[in-house]
Amino acid sequence: MLSTDAIESLFHRLSKAAPEHLEAPKSKIGTNPFRSLISVVLSAQSRDEMTARARDSLFAVADSPAAILALDEREIAGLIKACGLYNMKAKSVHKLCAALLERHGGVVPSDRKSLEALPGVGRKSTDILLRFVFDQPVVAVDTHVNRVCNRLGLARGKTEAQTARDLEPKVPPKYAWGAHIWLLEHGKQICRSRKPRCEACSLSDLCERNGL
Ligand code: SF4
Repeated sequence: MLSTDAIESLFHRLSKAAPEHLEAPKSKIGTNPFRSLISVVLSAQSRDEMTARARDSLFAVADSPAAILALDEREIAGLIKACGLYNMKAKSVHKLCAALLERHGGVVPSDRKSLEALPGVGRKSTDILLRFVFDQPVVAVDTHVNRVCNRLGLARGKTEAQTARDLEPKVPPKYAWGAHIWLLEHGKQICRSRKPRCEACSLSDLCERNGL
């Protein structure tokens, strides 16, 4: 695993290449926490454009916990059919709206414990909401961030959630806002899934996997 000095060096290099991400982002995926929460649940294993179609179709009919709860699961499934796993997600969305009303009066909570306790909301969804809706400097670990962390030796985990838990205490606070986007872009552009471009990687001298 990378030493504290190596981690500092890693983030220093990434921040030099894209310093605009050192500060809190100005744009968010949504200013409506409920719509954002439902969108994140619908996005699991679904392409962005399919998620958007499912989301728009659902919100055109019902866009509050009470309105969605008034639909039955089959109606919800029919509305979100554009995204994958729509039967399972319809059940999750229905249960989620019931829990939101019962536990939080229909308001999306802004703390990790309450979010993770909601049905269908795991570590990744929670991190995305905290980071992009509630303006908290957490690192959301998706497939790209997970791959980069494990290859580098920055954080270990068989799942994205495990990697997120391992990574959380290792990111120096001054890099907390940028870490997500830097690691994400590094995974998309350089440390790609099939053919990592180790020869072009600015982190190659720090990386445990380099060339292997
Ligand atoms: S050296 Fe290769 S494996 Fe390591 S982070 Fe860079 S691209 Fe990924």
